[in-house]
Amino acid sequence: SRGIGVLRDPRFNKGMAFTLEERQILGIHGLLPPAVFSMEEQVRRTVENVRKLANPINQYVYMLSLLQRNEKLFFKVVTENVEEMSPILYTPTVGLACQTLGHVYQRPRGMYITINDKNHIFKMLCNYPEHHIKAVVMTDGERILGLGDLGAFGMGIPIGKLNLYTAMGGIPPHQCLPVMLDVGTNNEQLRNQDTYFGIRQERVTGDQYDEFIDEFLAAVVHRYGQTTLLQFEDFANHNAFRLLEKYRNKYLTFNDDIQGTASVCVAGIMAAMRITKKKLPDNTFLFFGAGEAAIGIAELLVTAMTQEGMPEKEARSKIWLIDKAGLLVQVGGGRSEGASPEKIPFLKEHKEMNDLLEITKHLKPSVVVGAAGVGQMFDKAFLNEMAANNERPVIFALSNPTSHSECTAQEAYDHTQGRCVFASGSPFPPVSYNGKTYHTGQGNNAYIFPGVALAAIVASMHHISEEVFFIAAKVIADLAEESDLEMGRIYPPLANIHEVSTNLAAKIVEYAYANNIACTYPEPVDKLAFVRAHQFSLEYESFVPQVYSWPQQK
Ligand code: NAP
Ligand code: MN
Repeated sequence: SRGIGVLRDPRFNKGMAFTLEERQILGIHGLLPPAVFSMEEQVRRTVENVRKLANPINQYVYMLSLLQRNEKLFFKVVTENVEEMSPILYTPTVGLACQTLGHVYQRPRGMYITINDKNHIFKMLCNYPEHHIKAVVMTDGERILGLGDLGAFGMGIPIGKLNLYTAMGGIPPHQCLPVMLDVGTNNEQLRNQDTYFGIRQERVTGDQYDEFIDEFLAAVVHRYGQTTLLQFEDFANHNAFRLLEKYRNKYLTFNDDIQGTASVCVAGIMAAMRITKKKLPDNTFLFFGAGEAAIGIAELLVTAMTQEGMPEKEARSKIWLIDKAGLLVQVGGGRSEGASPEKIPFLKEHKEMNDLLEITKHLKPSVVVGAAGVGQMFDKAFLNEMAANNERPVIFALSNPTSHSECTAQEAYDHTQGRCVFASGSPFPPVSYNGKTYHTGQGNNAYIFPGVALAAIVASMHHISEEVFFIAAKVIADLAEESDLEMGRIYPPLANIHEVSTNLAAKIVEYAYANNIACTYPEPVDKLAFVRAHQFSLEYESFVPQVYSWPQQK
């Protein structure tokens, strides 16, 4: 394409980085100010502009409008400044953006499919202009981050997540499709807002809902192929486990809230074992919370311990969970009947208990994971107790956002005489204890999902097994360097995430070929080079045509 269209197409536009030569060749000379800037200058200026905007929601809007103007520049900025940009494009700012999406909305992105479109979904999907979709992230908006039901405004999440797929994993943006599955919202206040753009009705549930999801998934693979990745994001607990079980052996699918979280936390726990010098089966694990995050982690720990040779039943016996009704036990109140299916394998023959401190005194866990979404549960007495029972207590405070964290990093160090191994869901500033500075780790799912998704796509895997998430955990656990562990961080720095994801993907691709679950033929010899060849280039294309000449005729 030539002329003004090039400047208007975010995929080709380079703004003032078009060279004089390109401006003439493309017929856009004079349509831009005369200066020619390098991409590096543009990146620097963009970051400066974002910083000047201090207010996070304005920063979000600024960055998304850049994406609509100049795609390469957007991804270059995010990839090279990931620690600064991911909180703007994903949690926490994306939460705010979703809550006010009616105001923030600028240009269409992705697809909105409503329950009223049942029986017509395939036809609708054909309206989407891209022909080579490889990754779909979809939500029904029922449990957006820790914010609850945001209905169609939940669309900010699949859009944000897929931007991270590209910035952190190098999955080309034109292969990504964000989808809002709008079945209504039970958030009455939202339904009554005049800016609300979803369908104004209560959520459809039951068979209607199930048929709708079923039709959507079938329509996607019908249009884009069986090895299209279908990622569930921010579905409510009661649907998340059910849909994962229903589809995990039918489609290439995963649920990041369950499985991505599990993988990154098990990675952290395995890295922590390098500090405590224990093996996984030597521990007693206690979870505060028994939802998507906690059960996901607990199940993956079972996989990890059985891999180390422990019988499954014994592995489960090491893992205790607490939900709203207290310790997950079989006796009392018809618990086992009342418990949802994912909890049942963890119910213990034990008396009922419901005080966290009492339970801790009684079970003496070596690893505790907070994932109930309730803040300040790990108080001084609890942390003291953990320190009394363990030389190096492992303490994960995963609940987000920061205000919901079970304790702060500083509290964890202060109340364990600086002996804890700590990780959190939300980032904490460095901690000082006894003259030493600790940089604690963030159990960010971003260590896992971009690499796993990338591997699944390039190898054309049909399914993603639990073992894949276990391998991902092992890779990430090994990537934490001794120097990271020394400063209290059980994860590699997030700044290297693009490289981390690339290496992780190569390891999973290796596993996929070795286990006959890769369907891309022929098998590439160099897996890392193969992965890199599929990644999105962050450099501008040259528009100066490549020409060649023929040999001189005799
Ligand atoms: P979820 O599926 O709703 O699960 C919440 C669990 O906590 C449920 O089992 C619930 O009990 C339990 N719970 C709630 N209040 C409680 C209380 N007062 N006492 C005891 N248990 C209580 O939510 P989720 O997806 O697992 O997320 C939980 C938290 O983890 C959120 O804050 C989320 O932000 C965070 N998270 C962090 C990461 C990360 O750091 N990478 C990843 C995912 C999630 P019932 O089962 O009885 O309802
Ligand atoms: Mn999520």
